[in-house]
Amino acid sequence: WGIAGDDIEELGVKLGEGSFGVVSKVVDRVTNRLLAIKHLPLKPDPEFRTGIARELRFMFRCQSPFIVKFLGAYFVDGMVTFCMEYMTAGSLRDVYLAGGAMDQKAIKLVAKSVLEALHYLQSRDIMHRDIKPDNILCGFNGEVKVSDLGISVHLSDETGAAAAVGTLNYVAPESIGAGDGAADHPHAADIWALGITLVELAVGRYPYPLEDVDEVETRNGPRTRGIPPPSLDAFGHLDYLESGTPRLPAARFSPACRAFVSLMLERDPQRRPTPGDLLRHEFLYDLDLPSLHRHMAKVVQRACPAKFDELLADKAEHPRRYAP
Ligand code: ADP
Repeated sequence: WGIAGDDIEELGVKLGEGSFGVVSKVVDRVTNRLLAIKHLPLKPDPEFRTGIARELRFMFRCQSPFIVKFLGAYFVDGMVTFCMEYMTAGSLRDVYLAGGAMDQKAIKLVAKSVLEALHYLQSRDIMHRDIKPDNILCGFNGEVKVSDLGISVHLSDETGAAAAVGTLNYVAPESIGAGDGAADHPHAADIWALGITLVELAVGRYPYPLEDVDEVETRNGPRTRGIPPPSLDAFGHLDYLESGTPRLPAARFSPACRAFVSLMLERDPQRRPTPGDLLRHEFLYDLDLPSLHRHMAKVVQRACPAKFDELLADKAEHPRRYAP
């Protein structure tokens, strides 16, 4: 779809490793532009292939400025390779681990971007199912986009199960048996995951086990480096959920911002707002997207200066790769 394996020139640059496979930076020989590709193992049965083909056609049509662009895919030797837009700064996990706790403006941009993506997907009756800092990518220009949609749904059973294990940290209470309503409000789980993600970015740490974040920040200031998340089993996750709900620190986040995030972490999925409701919340009133992008650009450049220098050097050497 859209791209042939022969068109891809490998650069030998690994961008990251997900639960399924490696993501690398490559050049599309036809356009001479940079792309990111992801190799995944394929289940051999034809029905599965038809399923994946359907999914790919759908992803091709998913066009939103808040979703990482899917550019095509090809099958070789029992593997499928997805080609997508290259996001220069990597994931928000990379950014906060290096740069620490994010401020309110950065949180506002992430919330706005992910909610726009979820709103778009919901209008097409799709859940993302895997919202987390690893799946929100950003560029050194400050753009923030959601990635990895739908991929996990049509993967082989083994990889699908592995993915579920990898993302338990963001699973909503109703989806893990700590409440009702999962079936009636499937989209609400994405909102819970976004709420946890926003607190994680804001404090520089996966918010469980709960901490008195105001006290921690009064003592030490906001974290200047992020702390990698723990990996949880279902029991550990349930214990955490039962211990309470994470909150944003009061000193750095306005009442409107804190109220906005608390709505996402409403335990009853029926009462959790939809992306459309949240996009109309007062925290996002009068939002100036270009100015938030400029702010985010500074945040990511400060967090990952070596990667940014590398980008500038590569841009100077290969300007056509970065042409708009
Ligand atoms: P997961 O399987 O955990 O959802 P992925 O396999 O999609 O994660 O990606 C793993 C990592 O590779 C990401 O966290 C990110 O750092 C990097 N990455 C993925 N896609 C891109 C992209 N389009 N541009 C730049 N970096 C990417």
